[in-house]
Amino acid sequence: MVDKRKVGVLGGGQLGRMLIEAANRLNIQVNILDAAASPAKQISAHDGHITGSFKDAAAVKELAQSCDVVTVEIEHVDTQMLEEVAGSVVVEPSWKTLRIIKDKFQQKGYLKEHGVAVADSVELEGASPETIKEVGSKFGYPFMLKSKTEAYDGRGNFVVRSERDAAKAKEVLGDRPLYAERWADFRLELAVMVVKTKDGVLTFPTVETVHEDSVCKLTYAPPRNVSAETSARAQELAKKAIAAFEGKGVFGVEMFLLKDDSLLVNEIAPRPHNSGHYTIEACPLSQYDAHLRAILDLPIPESSLRLREPAIMLNILGGLTPDSHSQIARKALESPNASIHLYGKGDARPGRKMGHITVTAPSLSAAEREMQPLIDLVDNQKG
Ligand code: ATP
Ligand code: MG
Ligand code: MG
Repeated sequence: MVDKRKVGVLGGGQLGRMLIEAANRLNIQVNILDAAASPAKQISAHDGHITGSFKDAAAVKELAQSCDVVTVEIEHVDTQMLEEVAGSVVVEPSWKTLRIIKDKFQQKGYLKEHGVAVADSVELEGASPETIKEVGSKFGYPFMLKSKTEAYDGRGNFVVRSERDAAKAKEVLGDRPLYAERWADFRLELAVMVVKTKDGVLTFPTVETVHEDSVCKLTYAPPRNVSAETSARAQELAKKAIAAFEGKGVFGVEMFLLKDDSLLVNEIAPRPHNSGHYTIEACPLSQYDAHLRAILDLPIPESSLRLREPAIMLNILGGLTPDSHSQIARKALESPNASIHLYGKGDARPGRKMGHITVTAPSLSAAEREMQPLIDLVDNQKG
């Protein structure tokens, strides 16, 4: 055992599960707070887990009492209780950071205050036709309407293409706390996983992310058709953004690369992130290894965050039939350099993240050739 301390995690989805995969190799006990048999608990047999919700104050308190360091795999948690327990247990990253980031509008205001470029945004009182029109005349069309809270995989975003979309916008997001964002006419999207330790801020390499219907579909490491200078600039921007927050751990920084080569931060995740899955196979340390080490103050050699080999990650989403995602995983079994991760989520709903596949190869084009039949299958399933 390299460390006797117990780690408590709010949330037991796929990110918690992959964090446990990393912890298991070091014999570090991780106590998960989530529903019974959640993906993370399935691969961790001990009696320290807690059944309940990470939004429930009493359950968060119970978790805190069961461990030495508390962390999260999701930001939509009860930060009030985290603030309270922070007096008696280490909370990483800080509850202050989680509180700012879990509200996207507040997050963007905070980044702006710290000199980090983000899209212009404006707070809204509901989504009345008048408000939509007002924003349209300020930002032009299209613009993005976003829920401040509880957003993921694009569930919480609505593209307003003209004032005629007002009724639909109200129908889709009307009962949520809203803000509007100026459209970012990006060339492509980049992401950087940042590691904040007791000593400073480190980064993994820059990757390109491809979203479809607002859900991450693919990541390319390194990015395609992006100069080394731009990749380095993205790493610097990501570092600057995360240096502004308190606490330790890994953070995902999503960015837009605009057509004039400038960068905007889209959003930040205070935890391991989909765009960092590739690190499991492609880097000496994965984002999950790095997160554990950062919150426990264990060594992280900077060169272990490098790319060993180019990599492409493909998300496996629930599809049109209950079996669609299994077909993709089965096809990937035939691929010599594919690592397949299924999350143990049970029933597939369309768009639900069920697993992912990473292919690494000596060149990105070799990885692309190997991944293409799997992308074709995903695209064909959509019909
Ligand atoms: P995640 O699952 O990453 O948490 P989310 O639901 O929080 O997603 P966002 O990251 O806000 O959603 O947006 C999802 C995608 O929608 C972005 O990756 C990008 O492709 C597109 N998008 C978001 N904001 C804008 C914008 N202002 N202009 C243009 N496209 C945008
Ligand atoms: Mg988000
Ligand atoms: Mg996002």
